[in-house]
Amino acid sequence: MQARVRAFRSIRNRILLFSILVTMLPSLGIGWYWFDLIHKATSEKVEQKLLDSASFAEREINLWLEERSFDLRAFANSPLVLESIRSTIPEGKKAQKKAAIKASSQLRKLSSYLTLVRDQYSDYRRLMILDGNGTIIATSGSDDSAHPLSLPDNWEEQTAKLRLFSGDAFSVQGEAAPLLLLGIPLFAEQDSPPLGFFVMEVRLQCIPQLLRNSLPLSGAGRDPYTISLFKMNGELIVSTALPVDKSTTLISPQKTIGLFAVPHLLKEFVNERQERVVGVSIPLRHLPWHLLVTEKYDTIFSGLIQNRNRIILIAVLLTIAIGGLATIIASQIITPLQDLTKGVLRVADGDLDVAVAIHRQDELGLVTKMFNIMISRLKEDQQKLELLATTDFLTGLANRKQIMTDLAQEIEQYRRHSTKFSLLMMDIDHFKTVNDTHGHLVGDAVLVQLARIFKDTLRILDSAGRYGGEEFLIVLGQADLQQALQTAERIRLAVQQHIFTCDDVTLHATISIGVTEMSSENRTINELIDRADQALYDAKEHGRNRVVSG
Ligand code: GH3
Ligand code: MG
Ligand code: MG
Repeated sequence: MQARVRAFRSIRNRILLFSILVTMLPSLGIGWYWFDLIHKATSEKVEQKLLDSASFAEREINLWLEERSFDLRAFANSPLVLESIRSTIPEGKKAQKKAAIKASSQLRKLSSYLTLVRDQYSDYRRLMILDGNGTIIATSGSDDSAHPLSLPDNWEEQTAKLRLFSGDAFSVQGEAAPLLLLGIPLFAEQDSPPLGFFVMEVRLQCIPQLLRNSLPLSGAGRDPYTISLFKMNGELIVSTALPVDKSTTLISPQKTIGLFAVPHLLKEFVNERQERVVGVSIPLRHLPWHLLVTEKYDTIFSGLIQNRNRIILIAVLLTIAIGGLATIIASQIITPLQDLTKGVLRVADGDLDVAVAIHRQDELGLVTKMFNIMISRLKEDQQKLELLATTDFLTGLANRKQIMTDLAQEIEQYRRHSTKFSLLMMDIDHFKTVNDTHGHLVGDAVLVQLARIFKDTLRILDSAGRYGGEEFLIVLGQADLQQALQTAERIRLAVQQHIFTCDDVTLHATISIGVTEMSSENRTINELIDRADQALYDAKEHGRNRVVSG
């Protein structure tokens, strides 16, 4: 969690996140809105198209039904039919035997008639004549016991509407196509109960072709939709998608019944072949069936889905490109900031030898440039301060603190590497008199010019410092006593020969010098200074303007 918060605090990540959101949200939002809009419009169009096809298919079925009704009436119109039925109705007791003989010969004739008719039409499986009670009295004879015959309860109601009645579709073993029972009542006179019924079992083998005729052809010549007929219980009767003898289920009956609950509305579902489809169902007016017209989801929406995927791809590519660009821009901001931060941290640690590289000419470049200028000024000031802290302001030589430091370093060097060195301590002779005679300004000028003589005489290894008012210490690096005595003598002589001037005043001055060499006996700084001081004292004692070793 903390790591995540830290990651979000980084400017680079924040810029990256912002750029991704700014790119992703609008492009995907607009894409989604567009997809939804087109999806709805397409769905409405498809719904209308499928409904049109369903209506067309229903018309085809009704026409087919009317033709069957016409056939039935034509077959029933034969005088043989009514006569035969009448002959089966029992008459007076006397005529009973004679009538029975007549009836059985009539019925034989009738059965032959029915067989003759049936043999002319491959769609008709069985033609039957039933008496008023619904008992078969004559039949075309094929497979009479295969399916128990029962008239629909509402045959009267159906006939009033359609001029024929129908049962539900059913299957019989050995028959490829499902069958349908169609029939008409036979009346001797109007408004009297029917004498009997003319009934036939029709093979529904031509229905798929009928349905197919109501489908528009797609470019590839295949049916773009599937039209299927279902029973009310969700059982499939026939479908344009299946050969008529295949009793495969297209959609589970449960799902089918669910679809029937909302007729005329486009529904999306997955069929038994695991295909995503959309479809509308309508109930048939004249048969207890439902028509379902479906089309594959991919066929309708593949173009739309392709475009949606393209939009997603573009959005992703755009996000990657913008994200990359944002990372580059973030780096351009962050790299100079990081350099600057490193520089600031070094300065905070006391290191003023910092110069941040300037990569850019923008605001950050300017800030970096200003930072560098600021640090170089700070460095100059620090150097000045250091100089002030270590230098004697009058003579420009090292001050007492600095010369003592130099001396301590030399002692350290000696201890570590036995690097020899010598120390000179000098004092101006009768300097009080100079001051008293010519004034302090002249005295100061003498001190300044004396320092000049030291600087001119000494090597880079040596260091000279003002120890007190008019007392000086000189550390002679890598010099033994002998060399130190020579240098001291050279200085003493140079001073003696120098004409000190200040305005109109000219004067001579001399110095006394005590010399000592660093040795294993003089271990500490105080011991060394004491020895030089002692030697200086001896020089003063022995008449001044001289060099004495100690
Ligand atoms: P000696 O030969 O024994 O050294 O005699 P001296 O007169 O030099 O005696 P001492 O060394 O004690 O004198 C120190 C004098 O140096 C006292 C003071 O007036 C003078 N003095 C110290 N510092 C300064 C300075 O900065 N400027 C000037 N003009 N005089 C200074
Ligand atoms: Mg003195
Ligand atoms: Mg003096």
